[in-house]
Amino acid sequence: MPELPEVETIRQQLIRPLPLTILTVEMSSVVGSLLKPQNHQFSPVGMTLKNILRKGKLMTMVFDEDHYLLSHFGMSGGWRLSPNKILEKHTHLQFKCETKNRETLYLAFVDPRRFGHLFFFNKENAEKKWNELGVDISTPEFTYEYLKSVLKRFPEKQLKPFLLDQKYFAGVGNYIASEICARAGIRPTRRNKLIRDAEIHKIITATKIVIDGTLKTNGTTFSGGYADASGEKGLGVQHLVVFYQETCQLCHKTPVTKIILAQRGTYYCPSCQK
Ligand SMILES: [Zn+2]
Repeated sequence: MPELPEVETIRQQLIRPLPLTILTVEMSSVVGSLLKPQNHQFSPVGMTLKNILRKGKLMTMVFDEDHYLLSHFGMSGGWRLSPNKILEKHTHLQFKCETKNRETLYLAFVDPRRFGHLFFFNKENAEKKWNELGVDISTPEFTYEYLKSVLKRFPEKQLKPFLLDQKYFAGVGNYIASEICARAGIRPTRRNKLIRDAEIHKIITATKIVIDGTLKTNGTTFSGGYADASGEKGLGVQHLVVFYQETCQLCHKTPVTKIILAQRGTYYCPSCQK
């Protein structure tokens, strides 16, 4: 499932040729189930895609004339960019675009499992959607003080499932949450009230290591999942220390324990994490 590093990888690839003028739009017969609001007239032909922003796992394409296309990748969604028409199965939306130098490019939203969402909004609604998300964990606002204050507000919650809450930690997904706990040396089941101040610093540092590591390898692809804008897999698996691992890659000796916590597969090292 695409998490912050995967969405950011795609964003960085898509912004390179901007601005792009939209020449034609093609939609699949099922795009209606992805596109919100469903009764909205979606017609970006002639508009220019000027910028692409990201907060957490939400990507926002900024067009001229106060139009915004927001995308949430769901389980298996993503954008592709190519000089050739994208013929991949499960392509639901495809823009034929033109660069400033009059080169043709194709930009498409692909989503095999169709849990993704597209929102075509004006500025006001785009901001509303954006503001539903809390602090993005890759930004300077994700500080010791911020983390300490939110942990204090929810003392009884367990750390790992709590980290998945997008209202406080935008961009965290299941593999990142397990990896942050591992690198911070904290069991995923630990209650927030039992996390010491020194460990809060460790969570901040661990988050940076996890995000930076996987961004360098263009995201993380698990079996059959995410591909970047050129259709390539991300090689972030090499940075994982507990998630999907048999042996902990921090101590290199203890077998990783897998539990189900709040319905999600959760991995930790019983030696490295207390
Ligand atoms: Zn270990």
